[in-house]
Amino acid sequence: MSSSIPVCAPPEVGRNLLGLDCDGIARSAPELARPAFRSAALYRWMYRRRETDFARMSDLPAALRARLAGRLRIAWPEIASTAVSADGTHKHLLALEDGERVEAVYIPQPSGRITLCLSSQVGCALGCRFCRTAQMGFSRDLTPGEMVGQALRLEERHRLRPPYNIVFMGMGEPLLNLDSVMAAFRILADPQGVGVAARRITVSTAGHVPGIRRLAEMHPRPRLAVSLNSSTDRARSDLMPINRRWPLAELTAACREFAAAGRERVTFEYVVLRGVNDSSADARRLVTLLSRLRCKVNLIPYNPIGGEEFRRPPAGELEKLRRGLVAHGVPASVRWSKGVDIGAACGQLWWASRQGAGHGSGPAPPAIGGTMPGD
Ligand code: SF4
Repeated sequence: MSSSIPVCAPPEVGRNLLGLDCDGIARSAPELARPAFRSAALYRWMYRRRETDFARMSDLPAALRARLAGRLRIAWPEIASTAVSADGTHKHLLALEDGERVEAVYIPQPSGRITLCLSSQVGCALGCRFCRTAQMGFSRDLTPGEMVGQALRLEERHRLRPPYNIVFMGMGEPLLNLDSVMAAFRILADPQGVGVAARRITVSTAGHVPGIRRLAEMHPRPRLAVSLNSSTDRARSDLMPINRRWPLAELTAACREFAAAGRERVTFEYVVLRGVNDSSADARRLVTLLSRLRCKVNLIPYNPIGGEEFRRPPAGELEKLRRGLVAHGVPASVRWSKGVDIGAACGQLWWASRQGAGHGSGPAPPAIGGTMPGD
């Protein structure tokens, strides 16, 4: 099921403060810089109390509120359309102020746990062959406000409050927009901000090694997921061009540094493609590659993206691959994506800006029947 509403252009009055921290607020509104608690108060209204109307910020002087409203604003991205999956997943197309759009996904699990999948860029430049976002090409990075705004808008739509999980696994490569992703992360994870615990936020990368190294040094820091998808450089470079720049040995070395600098395990996502990366030899090579690395592997059966070049293996083959890893001490599970029927699953996000087509139009992924995942 999908629904669509016209989205009015937001009022162009003043700078949008969404995404700024206390220092940024004080710089944008000098009247809030002194006393310093004024910018902290506005920060709490914006993020902890999710308020967008200065008039309702009751602990700020009325004259100050009126001055702020005259030249600044707090605006979240609008929902342009929504597709609803039979499994309860909602894929939202969000309208940005310059006319660009990104998708963000609300994913409920049978356990009651909720995950929001957020985008970090409009499109993506990395060209992974199994990914529909790659077909959009790259438009631009998202700002911290556009990333925080995705979470706040989805919270509002689904009457949600923390605890829930956030994964930066939507459109884009987060580590190519790391400064903005981390600015958004700090606001999302801050108890005085949005209040989603740092350990509930995951950043996923296709394998940007300098970004992983920078992330390893940060504190607090999000969890790390790496889209691995192959056990040899030859196959991985063919699927994911980024591997030509940072091959598996460099990538796994950076992941070891990340794991050594914290307590969390690194998650490796492995999109399983029939006859490409699902053999018992692949399982053996993965065991060697991931040895002495605190990690777990999520085996994700390929999700169709239209004009299929790949297929997913039968469930028995997936289970064989999983057992091959587990038997040699690599924790692994099969993760059936949610929202496949609405093109909201891993690798399926897409928006046809350049073709002038709408959300969900174009070569739609064929529907797949079958089991939907548990947690
Ligand atoms: S899988 Fe991720 S990094 Fe690769 S093209 Fe798609 S969005 Fe970009």
